[in-house]
Amino acid sequence: MNYSSAFIPTLREVPADAVIASHRLMFRSGLLRKLANGLFAYLPLGLRSFRKVEQIVREEMNATGALEIKPSVVVPGELWKESGRWDSMGESLLRLKNRLNNDFVVSPTAEEAFTAIVRDELSSYRQLPLALYQINTKFRDEIRPRYGVMRGREFTMKDAYSWHTDDKSLDGTYQAMGRAYRRIFKRCGLSVIPVRADSGAMGGSGSEEFMVESEVGDNTLLLCKSCEYAANVEKASCTPDFQVRPSIETARAAAANTPACKKIETPNVKTINDLCAFLKTEPKAFIKTLVYRAVNVELDLSSAPGCSKLERKKISADAPSVYSEAFFAVAIRGDLDVNEVKLAAVLKASEVSLAPDTDVVRLTGAPVGFAGPVGLSFLPIIIDHTVTGMEDAVTGALEKDLHYEHAAYGRDFEAWMIEDVRTVKAGDRCPLCGGELYTKMGNELGHIFKLGYKYTRSMNVTYLDENGKTQMPVMGCYGIGVDRTLASVIEEHHDEAGIIWPASVAPYHVIIIPIKYNNEVKTAADNLAAELTKAGIEVLLDDRNERPGVKFNDADLTGIPWRVVIGDKGLAQPNPQVEIKRRSEKENLMIDTDKAAALLAQKIREELAALNS
Ligand SMILES: [Zn+2]
Repeated sequence: MNYSSAFIPTLREVPADAVIASHRLMFRSGLLRKLANGLFAYLPLGLRSFRKVEQIVREEMNATGALEIKPSVVVPGELWKESGRWDSMGESLLRLKNRLNNDFVVSPTAEEAFTAIVRDELSSYRQLPLALYQINTKFRDEIRPRYGVMRGREFTMKDAYSWHTDDKSLDGTYQAMGRAYRRIFKRCGLSVIPVRADSGAMGGSGSEEFMVESEVGDNTLLLCKSCEYAANVEKASCTPDFQVRPSIETARAAAANTPACKKIETPNVKTINDLCAFLKTEPKAFIKTLVYRAVNVELDLSSAPGCSKLERKKISADAPSVYSEAFFAVAIRGDLDVNEVKLAAVLKASEVSLAPDTDVVRLTGAPVGFAGPVGLSFLPIIIDHTVTGMEDAVTGALEKDLHYEHAAYGRDFEAWMIEDVRTVKAGDRCPLCGGELYTKMGNELGHIFKLGYKYTRSMNVTYLDENGKTQMPVMGCYGIGVDRTLASVIEEHHDEAGIIWPASVAPYHVIIIPIKYNNEVKTAADNLAAELTKAGIEVLLDDRNERPGVKFNDADLTGIPWRVVIGDKGLAQPNPQVEIKRRSEKENLMIDTDKAAALLAQKIREELAALNS
């Protein structure tokens, strides 16, 4: 391709809203333009790299035995009503109506569409296992799209779904997908951190996320300095630095020598720090009690304090009945924080948040800041594991300016539930080996997940087993964000001057820069381009009538892995020579003109082979 006939509108200036490298560089190097907030157009150079990522994904999916299909992007709203997600997806689901006033959805993901297709065709166990995938457009009406294609509204995702007769078969496909994902990211030149939902112990996990490190990542990861442990903070656990007392009897026994629990005056003390200063103690000695409001709780609360009169309602075919709203007290050691994602999981709630002050006052009978588990009778109390190890604690006394001292779990208060709801932090100990944990911010590029029967049950998918009995298939799903993967390649491979593409996803392998595109220089440049093209190497020939500095800057910015400079001086040598330089290296090399094509082809094949190995 000649540069003068290409469409590569490079920019000197950085778009005002571009805060991360990939966003800046995709615009500056002419890969991408913005149509509206969160909506982008890939220009020719960007689309070449995008297609290469797509192709790597496709090859690795095909190698697992998954079959590609191409469903429509707009799907009937009826399918989403069947699964229950028409209601539960909220505002991020783009709904629309056609001229007949029928409901449709612009797919943000495609469990419903794929399940509907399989439901209509599946009759016998002989058709299973089956894995289908698409690489297709998706839409999510994000509130705040940002970071370019890293978090856009419209994006391309590879999503695969599989159906099985049993868990063993599902696990086989799940493991194969995990291996394929590792290969995909390696081939793209990406270092990913695989994060399992459980601790990575034996027995297999039901979910694995593939993260890349990113300063603007939307996930906090905890990693172990001594072993492979990696977990999302939403699920991370740690080795306790306290004594766990699982039974109430052991907790009571531990409190045998604790003085009786009594109220103390704590005038004008509002925060834990004030209290520590006042009592000359540390936050670890304090039981912090927070009141949470939970929405769509799927637990049975009929025996929970203060909950017996709550109204249950049916929200979807999938969730039999739930409480639309319920309040809980959560008690945790004073130096720790409650992890709301863990808490929501414990409560089987769609959302939890700190209760408004008016509710706290109403439910605890005390001003905000004086809640405590002792004598708290109107709320179910969930205590974090840490509290079971506290036999002599300070805590709020449910009255203004009063606290209890010598409060002991088991003796002075009990729990409705004991759970791990703490937020794990850097410095905590690894749950596998006891090593020190540290944090990184990460972006999720891919996710593999054992879905179970969620969709096959709600959408009534069945087959006949060997004995002619009706059975329900078990399902898995496996996604990769193509745009995010491409942007992450740039995040990992760039410098001040621009992108540094790995050969596997570079828009072209070689850029040839004739200092002046005329006479012998033109002939040499044209010959080299022809020879490389014949060898299967993708070439961009900068035939523009521009100063060499401009051409060099654009070559660095667009990040093409190899640059060849051809000038009068080199060609005038006894052995005519050209200069070659790798984008990722500083040094350049003069080489005989007639050896250049073979050397470049060899170097590029070597790099591709290393990425693909
Ligand atoms: Zn460890």
